Amino acid sequence: MKYFSILIIALVSLSAFAGNNQATDSVKIKMIFDRALSEHYGINNLKYLTKSIGPRVAGSKNSLLAIKWSKKTLETLGLDTVYVQKCMVANWERKKDEISTIKSRKLGSKKIDVISLGGSISTPENGIDSQIIAVDSISDLQKLGTEKIAGKVVFFRRPMDHTYFRPGKAYGSNSELRVRGASAAAKYGAVAVIVRSLTMIQNDLPHTGIMRYDTTQPRIPAFAVSTNSADTLDKWLLDDPKLSVFLKSTTIIGEDVESANVIGEIKGSLYPDSIIIVGGHLDSWDVGEGAHDDGAGIIHSMESLRILLESGIKPKHTIRCVFFMDEEMNQRGGRKYAELAKIKNEKHLAAIESDGGGFNPSGFGMDASDEKLARFQSWVTLFKPYGVREFTKGGGGVDISFLKSLNVPLIGLSNDSQIYFDFHHSANDVLENVHERELQLGSAYIAALIYLLDKYGL
Ligand SMILES: [Zn+2]
Repeated sequence: MKYFSILIIALVSLSAFAGNNQATDSVKIKMIFDRALSEHYGINNLKYLTKSIGPRVAGSKNSLLAIKWSKKTLETLGLDTVYVQKCMVANWERKKDEISTIKSRKLGSKKIDVISLGGSISTPENGIDSQIIAVDSISDLQKLGTEKIAGKVVFFRRPMDHTYFRPGKAYGSNSELRVRGASAAAKYGAVAVIVRSLTMIQNDLPHTGIMRYDTTQPRIPAFAVSTNSADTLDKWLLDDPKLSVFLKSTTIIGEDVESANVIGEIKGSLYPDSIIIVGGHLDSWDVGEGAHDDGAGIIHSMESLRILLESGIKPKHTIRCVFFMDEEMNQRGGRKYAELAKIKNEKHLAAIESDGGGFNPSGFGMDASDEKLARFQSWVTLFKPYGVREFTKGGGGVDISFLKSLNVPLIGLSNDSQIYFDFHHSANDVLENVHERELQLGSAYIAALIYLLDKYGL
């Protein structure tokens, strides 16, 4: 009986403690959200990054301006340390806008909207003028064989599957056409490829993105075509299977150049050697302004540290924001960060990445052990007042993925991604398409999660 009473008292005081903690946490988290939603620091910085600097392909002049500006901006926040971490990056550049026209003896000619894929070689100076052949998949190429494909331009016509609830899944299932399509078609003698843009929106804007050459195949130029133009191609090919296309592009692939990740940190008061990182990528494609991809992630990372500091929250662990370079092409920044973390034997409590745009957040996903996941998921109720949907198993980001081999729990910010691919890698990824409140909710979500990670660990 005595033990029973002690047990009851212990349980009651434990739950009172948990209740108190929860109340304190709710208050702190509200403070974080209040600040995020009522200050304009985040959107003003995104404005500078997108409008005064603009698109910033890794290795470009603009990417160097972005490094300089973001370092200087971090230095104004009152962090303990700000520094750059050098890395080499490839140097691919689009020199001129692409030109393309389809030509049919029956239907006449029509301009179509195309763009070179990232990493693609140029067409010859006089362009490419060839018959076009449509396929749905890479395996279709084998069925057609060299006889049907050699000397032609292969058009990968398959649209993204609109029935997926998560557009990212549809993107993932089509992305091999963009990434591997050129070399797969070159194997059968194709002279160029055109890939339907990886988006579900119908408009005239082509969406670029990385493509890769297989070193065993000849390199051929690779393009994306807007969804409207892809539909035109489909229609015209039905009426005239002998349809031809003219394509002209001017890109250069230069020598590797020096670039850098930009890092800022708040030193932990109790455990300075245990680090929580939050990051996004500083580079973008050369069309649009890289506002959602990944200007938003840069602002989320920068804002979460600023908000914690301004709210008077003194972290026990070191909180580090990392602006990674070169996510879009070769992830040299992410690789360099992990490589140095390993050499320095750094201990990371968790790594958070935001690279899904500045949309209304819905929660987080975490890639870690079930035990850590259970703790992480117990915090979801604290986000209920802010419209959280769920904290899911599985998540992270491309840049932080290299920390997986060091057993670092990886966390990605999740958001309402229905319209992300309307903008992604296209001329529409501009500041005007980012909503300040949605952007700032993302900053607050991350700041609140860092607060909890720092307080309770994983
Ligand atoms: Zn991105």
